[in-house]
Amino acid sequence: MVRAMVMEDFGRIVARDLPRPAAPPGGALIRVLANGICGSDLALYSGEMRNPGGKPPAFPMITGHEPVGEIVEIDDDAARRWDVAVGDRIVVESRARCGVCAGCRDGDDCTDAMIYSLRGLDDHEGLWGGLCEYMCVVGGSNVFKVPVHVSDLDATMFNPLGNAFYWVAETAQVRPGESVLVLGAGQRGLCCAAAAAEAGAARVIVTGLRRDQAKLALAGSFGATDVVIVDEEDTVARVRELLHGRPLDVVVDTVPVAVEPLRDAVELLRPRGRLVLAGVREEGAAPFALERFRIKQLTMHGVSGTTATAVGRAMATIAAGAYPFHLLHSHVMGLGRAVEAIELLGPAGARAEQAPIHVVVRPSEP
Ligand SMILES: [Zn+2]
Ligand SMILES: [Zn+2]
Repeated sequence: MVRAMVMEDFGRIVARDLPRPAAPPGGALIRVLANGICGSDLALYSGEMRNPGGKPPAFPMITGHEPVGEIVEIDDDAARRWDVAVGDRIVVESRARCGVCAGCRDGDDCTDAMIYSLRGLDDHEGLWGGLCEYMCVVGGSNVFKVPVHVSDLDATMFNPLGNAFYWVAETAQVRPGESVLVLGAGQRGLCCAAAAAEAGAARVIVTGLRRDQAKLALAGSFGATDVVIVDEEDTVARVRELLHGRPLDVVVDTVPVAVEPLRDAVELLRPRGRLVLAGVREEGAAPFALERFRIKQLTMHGVSGTTATAVGRAMATIAAGAYPFHLLHSHVMGLGRAVEAIELLGPAGARAEQAPIHVVVRPSEP
């Protein structure tokens, strides 16, 4: 039997023992070694997110979409396509192509992508989430082999760092010599700092709160040149001072809920500057002065998720070893503590003795 953490409804995740299925046709079966926990796991569990992926959730389903696993069974074609074999460790990007829609046929974005952790337990093989001892991987997945010298825990960073490369490099197209402000010092903010540094940014400024001290202390190792503590200093004045009055080229926002940082961003960006909006906010939050935005001819990019090329860059960057990703794994917990792990990303985390940075569920853990 296979131990799985099944989300039966909003606010209810229970452990279930399920029969171990065969690999799906054209895909693989992996033994899950680790699975990163993401803000969207909490948003869904808490019921704040009612329509993940644009539709009501297919309860019951297995949570978790940032898995690292060892291949235990694989279709011959998939093995050739992904260049992997039984025994290899892989990471699986959270969206898989359906292979049959017009987008897939034309080589564009898939319009009917399967999102891991959102496919129902009763749908085919059923093990579609990473909070489980085993997970099924469909043939349309983006799969990347984990190099032998990269740890399971570091490999879980493929997701936040993959997002960061998509947001900073592919979307904002940060160029060498530019100045970048990253709003937020969580795992995503730190990964964005690293992606900006990789893109050759001359200045990378990361903002955080006084209570983010532990994360801000790591920012320098992740490519930040400066940090700003927003509840201690005036962000706009401090950034101007740091840049000797030169305006910013790019702002990457990873801050949830708060809208004040976006007003600062509009103020600080140079004419024709770029703002990447990744933080989740309430619909209708009306964050900033539109007229200011227009006059400065700014561009705003909304982003969600990542791309296969960005995850590839993330894996290469993790493998190169230039950043201390091991310092981010603040909490590593067993499957039975999955709910606790997810809740750490909310108010419980703010009360925790050790501030959560990156939370990972590892089935081998008690
Ligand atoms: Zn995620
Ligand atoms: Zn498709």
